[in-house]
Amino acid sequence: MGIIVAIDGPAGSGKSSTAKEVARRLGFTYVDTGAMYRTVTLEALRRKVDVKNKNQVAQIAQEITISFKWIEDVHHTFLNDEDVSDKIRSSMVADMVSQVSAIPGVREVLAERQRQMAMIDNIVMEGRDIGTNVFPDADYKFYMDADIRVRAHRRIKDYKNIGQDLSIDEIARELQKRDKIDSSRSHSPLKKAKDAIIIDTTDLTFEEQVKKIVTIIQH
Ligand code: C5P
Repeated sequence: MGIIVAIDGPAGSGKSSTAKEVARRLGFTYVDTGAMYRTVTLEALRRKVDVKNKNQVAQIAQEITISFKWIEDVHHTFLNDEDVSDKIRSSMVADMVSQVSAIPGVREVLAERQRQMAMIDNIVMEGRDIGTNVFPDADYKFYMDADIRVRAHRRIKDYKNIGQDLSIDEIARELQKRDKIDSSRSHSPLKKAKDAIIIDTTDLTFEEQVKKIVTIIQH
């Protein structure tokens, strides 16, 4: 087992960008577990499987291969052999993903794959339940959070990049809806691990967020 850095927190808290840069500076492998739940959601939408049909959705999680690859410094997500990096960021997927990720069968399949990834490499893994459920004994645990307006502002750019123009209010509503479902589900809900270090990124620059984490790991 390699060194495990777990970073959890709600959407837009700065987790993804920070975790990627921390992994780059430490030479660790970066794992975006949210992308895995989004990929299962995309496939369920394509197959027109109702999310109420929990067994069928869990079956999809089992059937598909999800992998990551860095291409020219950009992190890409693959569903089998297809690059779905942009498609999994659509608002259609965002609207459904929390219902898919609340299905215990889906969580069990993906958590197992996440544990296997740490067998080979040192990793920085970000998500909602990494420090609480996937790796309760992780070497380092962080919980990132920020004010809802700040979080919504950060997401505007992400949507623009894939050609979707959403207002701050629309994005804030989507984030709050997801936070509510993610933190109230019965299987491995979003919550801070008791021993996680809290990083409130509301007033922090990107460099400050990265430095805080890297400094703790290197000392
Ligand atoms: O991090 P991101 O916003 O891409 O995550 C998308 C969704 O995936 C979350 O809202 C949550 O429903 C789900 N998720 C999860 N557990 C994780 C990572 C993500 O339930 N470890």
